[in-house]
Amino acid sequence: MQRLKDGYLAFQHAINQNKSRYLYPAAKQQQPHSMVISCCDSRVNPCQIFQAHAGEIFLFQNIAGHLPAPGSACSIQTSAALRFGIENLQVNNLIFLAHTDCAGLKAATENYNTLSPDLKQWLKDLKTLPTGDEISMLQAHLHQNTENALQHEFIAQQVQNQTLKIHQMIYNVEHGTVFIARNRNLTAF
Ligand SMILES: [Zn+2]
Repeated sequence: MQRLKDGYLAFQHAINQNKSRYLYPAAKQQQPHSMVISCCDSRVNPCQIFQAHAGEIFLFQNIAGHLPAPGSACSIQTSAALRFGIENLQVNNLIFLAHTDCAGLKAATENYNTLSPDLKQWLKDLKTLPTGDEISMLQAHLHQNTENALQHEFIAQQVQNQTLKIHQMIYNVEHGTVFIARNRNLTAF
């Protein structure tokens, strides 16, 4: 806990030095432009990666950054988060941020039968992702998330109206770099 307390004191000091840097003007009434869905791996911190101020990113993290298909057993929380971020907060970007060395994806594709029942339930849709080439597996996962998102009528409609854009990104935890994944190609963000 001391490490966290030291961090908090440094945060308070930084706020007092530069309020605008840490307290985005919209912080009193959040108006995020982007929703990020990512893994809850402790090395993946989207607000840090994008240097986002308070109020900019509506963040939803879970094991493997998974988005189950609407109507499936695990989908209630993710569907509610999408509904809130896109309909209530009216974000313009839905970003799926996968990452390298993902223990959740490894567990789903390599050790599925050894998992506890709750993890099996959560990772069920991911156990058939292609293995071997890590980037291909991450791209397949991002593609699956996007397809599942588009099954929501309110998302498909907004994408069609161009009021919402879906982005697929991969974060390399070793190098701290982000790539855009599109059509099986990776380009630097
Ligand atoms: Zn992960």
